[in-house]
Amino acid sequence: MANATQWDRVIVGLGESGHAAACHLAAAGERVAVLDTRLRPPRADDLRARFPEVPVITGDFDDRLLANAAEIVLSPGVDPRHPALAAARQRGQPIIGEIELFARAVSAPVIGITGSNGKTTVTRMVAAMAAQAGVDVVAGGNLGPAALTLLEQHPDAECFVLELSSFQLETTRSLRPRVAAVLNISPDHLDRYENMADYAAAKARVFTGSGHAVINADDPWVRTMATSGAGVSRFAGESDTEADWRPEYRSGVEWLTGDGEAVLSRDEMQLPGRHNTLNALASLAIGDAFGLDRAAMREALRAFRPLPHRTESLGWHGGRLWINDSKATNVASAVAAVSGMDVPVVLLAGGEAKGQRFEALAAALDSVGRAAVVYGRDAAAIADALGDTLTVEVVDDLDAAVIAAQRLSRRGDAVLLSPACASLDQFRDYRARGEHFRRRVEAMGNG
Ligand code: ADP
Repeated sequence: MANATQWDRVIVGLGESGHAAACHLAAAGERVAVLDTRLRPPRADDLRARFPEVPVITGDFDDRLLANAAEIVLSPGVDPRHPALAAARQRGQPIIGEIELFARAVSAPVIGITGSNGKTTVTRMVAAMAAQAGVDVVAGGNLGPAALTLLEQHPDAECFVLELSSFQLETTRSLRPRVAAVLNISPDHLDRYENMADYAAAKARVFTGSGHAVINADDPWVRTMATSGAGVSRFAGESDTEADWRPEYRSGVEWLTGDGEAVLSRDEMQLPGRHNTLNALASLAIGDAFGLDRAAMREALRAFRPLPHRTESLGWHGGRLWINDSKATNVASAVAAVSGMDVPVVLLAGGEAKGQRFEALAAALDSVGRAAVVYGRDAAAIADALGDTLTVEVVDDLDAAVIAAQRLSRRGDAVLLSPACASLDQFRDYRARGEHFRRRVEAMGNG
């Protein structure tokens, strides 16, 4: 049957974005089919209910079916090196993603935000600033909802703020963001890229055709990225730079400044860590380039609170301050969280290491680390890197890690779950990991 069928598009992967792409195309009357290796993809029932004519074909990708597609829509979770996709590329078939479909359909301005860490935080900050400034704004993309879902639900939005992953950018070519930002580049997903340069190149695609580029002047990978002749603003974490947006000390008070103008003091923000100073500066640079009013941006940053699973305080339990940073899925993000601590900390880390090295985490723990408890698939590799300078205990899972952390910590310490790894060996995703941690911690009672 596959040989006889000519599909307008075949969607590979029925996750959130694949589902959004399927609905978008089917609603436009296209002939689409969906492939997923999982026998029961989570959104299959919903898709069948809405568009019964769209076949969902499960099991390994059917090369004959792919060969009959005018265009392939690849989900970010599927490795493009899969042999069936490599064969499609060989045949010269275009492979695009859901963001490409969004880019072709959207007419309102888009703000595109990428980087290894801080994407969700900055996306939310920028959206809060725009809303405060009176713009009818919606935010999503990698963090969800999918961009096409946003477009379907808010066709009249005046601005779309999108968090974009490197995987999404790889399959996007028509997006022309009014403002685009790369926040930072640190090792991540090196199981999907040949090397750091390839990973950085995928991120740099956000600048293709962008009206204005926002760049981290501290980051050697980002500051050398080509920005297609657009306007550029730079942000940096130190005051002694030429960056347009940077912190400055005036009469002992740290201010976030833009072009020399103090916008708000660091103390006015309720967010821990130097990384959040950078996130706020990046957001200000983006908002300013978009034309938002500075007073509105200031108000939005003052009201902004940590998002769930991102250095989120769970309060005091058993005499320790427990912090859920489950979203720290790579080493650089865990380093940022540890560096923001000002009391002794027991770190809980582990999961799938994605080929990363953990030396930087050992260095960050040097001054504040009381101990580390490591668990999950790559626990041994992490223990090897941390064990020289720190007490490290290896346990099977997060439950055992919580118990060990209580024992290894002292009254007044912090216990920080900042895993530096993906969660998929033991959890559905980082949210499930963070929720599981929260339940274990809250079961201890307050105090
Ligand atoms: P992303 O969407 O890129 O994963 P998030 O805003 O969700 O980023 O933050 C994820 C984690 O990364 C946080 O829990 C924190 O530990 C760390 N983090 C946030 N911002 C930064 C930053 N600017 N630099 C380094 N680490 C950061």
